[in-house]
Amino acid sequence: MVIQVKAVVYEKPCSVAVRDVDDPRIEHPGDVIVRLTSGAICGSDLHLYEGRTAAEPGIVFGHENLGVVEETGSGVVSLSKGDRVVMPFNVACGFCKNCLAGDTGFCLTVNPGFAGGAYGYVAMGPYKGGQADRLRCPSPTSTA
Ligand SMILES: [Zn+2]
Ligand SMILES: [Zn+2]
Repeated sequence: MVIQVKAVVYEKPCSVAVRDVDDPRIEHPGDVIVRLTSGAICGSDLHLYEGRTAAEPGIVFGHENLGVVEETGSGVVSLSKGDRVVMPFNVACGFCKNCLAGDTGFCLTVNPGFAGGAYGYVAMGPYKGGQADRLRCPSPTSTA
């Protein structure tokens, strides 16, 4: 059985809605699942919302997210259930060449074929947005 959670999804230009989406789960030992408590709406969301991108219906919005860790993958060493976390919009693995050099905005692993990724943004990798009940995130300090 697939569990569903609520999320803000893009439908068409100037139309979003709260819909049921699949509950995120640990997919990699370095993943954590965060229960979102807040998520900003920013100018980047407006590019999607107003139809200026190639966003397809169903993309979950939200790339500036705050919440509480609910689950951790087996390789996560620096976060525990119950920790409060603030996530930057750009997703970073923490272990690639660019991340180790401090250039986490140009992570080489979260969005294959492109340097850099973001939560909830068209063409910025597989991570859904945080205007949702729960979010899957890589843990930048995992050993996985
Ligand atoms: Zn933003
Ligand atoms: Zn990286």
